[in-house]
Amino acid sequence: MVEQVRHMIKQVFNGPPSLEEMRRQFQDLLRQQGKPGVFNFTPPQSDGQARPENAAAPEDFRFDLKPKDVKAYLDRFVIKQDEAKKVLSVALCDHYHHVRLTLEGKVQPNYAKQNILLMGPTGVGKTYLVRRMADLIGVPFVKADATKFSETGYVGGDVEDLVRDLVRQAGGEVARAEYGIIYIDEIDKIAASTGLHGRDVSGRGVQTNLLKLMEETEVPARAPNDIAGQIQAMMEMTQRGGKKQPATINTKHILFVVSGAFDGLENITRKRLREATIGFAAKEREPEGAEQLLTQTQTRDFIDFGFEPEFIGRLPVRVLCRALQVEDLHQILKSSEGSIVRQYEQTFAAYGLEVLFKDDGLRRIAELAAEEKTGARGLMTICERVFREFKFELPSTAVRRFEVGHATVEQPAKALASLLQEHALASQRIGRQLVTEFEERFAKAFEIEIHFTPAATERLLALAAEKNQSVRELCAELFKDYQFGLKLIVQNTGRKSFTLDLDAVQAPEKVLSDWVVASYRQTGGPVSESIPAAQPPPPAGADGL
Ligand code: ADP
Repeated sequence: MVEQVRHMIKQVFNGPPSLEEMRRQFQDLLRQQGKPGVFNFTPPQSDGQARPENAAAPEDFRFDLKPKDVKAYLDRFVIKQDEAKKVLSVALCDHYHHVRLTLEGKVQPNYAKQNILLMGPTGVGKTYLVRRMADLIGVPFVKADATKFSETGYVGGDVEDLVRDLVRQAGGEVARAEYGIIYIDEIDKIAASTGLHGRDVSGRGVQTNLLKLMEETEVPARAPNDIAGQIQAMMEMTQRGGKKQPATINTKHILFVVSGAFDGLENITRKRLREATIGFAAKEREPEGAEQLLTQTQTRDFIDFGFEPEFIGRLPVRVLCRALQVEDLHQILKSSEGSIVRQYEQTFAAYGLEVLFKDDGLRRIAELAAEEKTGARGLMTICERVFREFKFELPSTAVRRFEVGHATVEQPAKALASLLQEHALASQRIGRQLVTEFEERFAKAFEIEIHFTPAATERLLALAAEKNQSVRELCAELFKDYQFGLKLIVQNTGRKSFTLDLDAVQAPEKVLSDWVVASYRQTGGPVSESIPAAQPPPPAGADGL
């Protein structure tokens, strides 16, 4: 995508491409955004009148999934929510089999579209479920909050924009958009009941507008004053092999999913249930929790809540997504294919870092996330907090792997500090061993002993770190002439053991030449007058050699 945009910009500088070429490139760009899937097809118009551009035959459309297939797929990603997964799988299969039959010309006159109402608190997987389903079948998916719409469409947006967004998601293909999924969150906020929420009538207006979409309407493919619409206009001449795109989008087969927390709805249900028992002298009902009550809602409860009967009537499939407990959050981290743990593994891996999540670490993340009361979203909040500094610091260190346990999650700053300290200590220890190894190899190869003072060793390690060089390479490089120079000194003085101090690390050649010169002085051998008087060779090693 980036490459294509770059290419297009380059072309602008190289002289404008032909209009035809530009159209083609825009088309490619948009098409790439659309995802092919099981449901990758170009169906004809549902009214049977094939649009000229929709030349593909209905048999191009394949949908042969069974509810259990869909549920099995959702199980890989979504933890808990078994009831919702079942209900959604059935509704989805119903809907797309109906679409298939319609495309095959087998019209089902009394079919009622399986639009879905999902109840449940935030972050428990409502959107996730529907998004995964759209992905599975390869239909475009659009999500918006009901609160952004106003009755007249001028405040936050127009409900029809949703349908046009679907076309954009479908890579500009109206035909694919007509079989997409529209997800509207916070639907409870447009309930117009003045009694409960004090909402004005605007919610009712939005409901009416949405109702039109959910039934069947033709939405203009281009909104006036919409830039994307203008691009669309430019492209429409060439879409689908140079044939015209339809000017409107039919919403008959778009699947609608609406969702919300529905706070307070349980009180309406409770009241109804209580009233139902009066007069039966029934024994007192056990007090029920909000969740339990929401599983018993009826259409009239939604109407009392503030929905228009026609609106709620268009949402026949209703199901509750349950709150997630610590155990569920732990399970999400451990086994969901979309777990945030995988995301962190990949983030660190990009820097060559390996992270091992231990079970007690995951458990602690889940416990802290549950306290956030934002469902699985709490997991992201906690992980972000725990790993913020790790992500910042570790890529610039030599640490290659680390584990995340209870203590890491509990006190991330402390855990990071001790990880870095441990790593520094281990690295120092190994570094010192490498210096010793150099001494030993030197002795073995040349029968001359060299010994680095502690200060010299520390300096060597610091230099290696500074230059990002291995200790071995650094020593070999700095002291490459020592085998020759020291050999001369051995010949001149018989001394076979040398101690190398800080100055030998800082100026190895100078120290060696000074020593050599001094060794000639000692023997009265050939010393050039121009060479400054050298220090005598340092004292022999502690072993007296
Ligand atoms: P909402 O219920 O508010 O629509 P989402 O579905 O957007 O919440 O959840 C936010 C994120 O949390 C998802 O993208 C997903 O990563 C994770 N998540 C939420 N619920 C679950 C679940 N039941 N199983 C696995 N992951 C989940």
